[in-house]
Amino acid sequence: LAKDRGQSGIVVYESRVHTEALERLALRADLQRALTRSELVLHYQPIIDLRTVAVKGFEALVRWQHPTRGLMSPALFIPMAEETGLILPLGAWVLRAACEAAADMQRPGCAPTMSVNVSAQQLSQPGFVDSVLAALTDTGLPSDRLTLEITETVILRDLDTVAPRLAALREVGVKVAIDDFGTGYSSLAYLSSLPVDVLKVDKSFIDKVTTDKQAASLAEAIIALSHKMHFTTVAEGVEQPEQAAWLRKARCTYGQGYLWSRPVDLAAARAMLGSEVGFGTPARLLPRADR
Ligand code: C2E
Ligand code: MG
Ligand code: MG
Repeated sequence: LAKDRGQSGIVVYESRVHTEALERLALRADLQRALTRSELVLHYQPIIDLRTVAVKGFEALVRWQHPTRGLMSPALFIPMAEETGLILPLGAWVLRAACEAAADMQRPGCAPTMSVNVSAQQLSQPGFVDSVLAALTDTGLPSDRLTLEITETVILRDLDTVAPRLAALREVGVKVAIDDFGTGYSSLAYLSSLPVDVLKVDKSFIDKVTTDKQAASLAEAIIALSHKMHFTTVAEGVEQPEQAAWLRKARCTYGQGYLWSRPVDLAAARAMLGSEVGFGTPARLLPRADR
């Protein structure tokens, strides 16, 4: 290390930055190959009906099975995919794979929904609506079983372009969710004009509902508002039974979090809907793979 060689702190810093830059370059090239070598995988986290504790559907979350680095979190490569434009083929793959998985899960009396995260660049493509419709047609997933998750900043950044696209998809039954709600800095006034069906209340609020009166009031107000606007409300990142109890009391409809299950692979997700137990099995009886 530079320090061992008696050099200045600045050199240490620069060499670290240099290494990081090289690593990023290598990773970038790797990501390009990952797409063609099918190293991307989807994990699925159940969304739970807080009243019945039954599985209502899943959120698809992408991971990268890197040949040397192991299973990588999306936080490590989604930003890079956005910078390089690789988010477009990546997002297209995620959409199809998630629809395929969900279509395969549909049974009489068991119709889980699938939520898919959509990035700003995907939405800004003129062909976005057609690509979603094609994914539905090709996989046979009923359109009302698909939810697209979009952050409020992305919806609002270019509302004039985005709103008609979301409206066209909602027209055929696709649901639109605002992800990480409450973390953007938009006013509540715009909510009534947005083409959305679901509010996902950000984990940062849920973390504090049982310990911080102010946060609890705020979460309560968001849930009440969401009801008034006829949105479905999902609480993100529920970890404690006390939080689930609080949310039930506040009349939040759905929850998602490690309390019930981490994101799991397709086989484990399917097992949650397994034929013996069936759709609607209380999540506390479910296998807790990955926990
Ligand atoms: P998100 O869409 O808000 O997804 C929720 C994240 O919270 C997931 O992290 C999930 O594993 C994590 N989580 C769920 N419950 C808990 C909990 O109880 N405690 C804690 N600490 N965390 C919990 P993950 O899978 O690492 O994904 C991070 C973000 O990466 C996602 O946030 C989403 O913005 C993005 N992402 C994931 N997959 C995709 C994708 O296919 N496309 C795009 N564009 N973005 C994706
Ligand atoms: Mg999401
Ligand atoms: Mg979120």
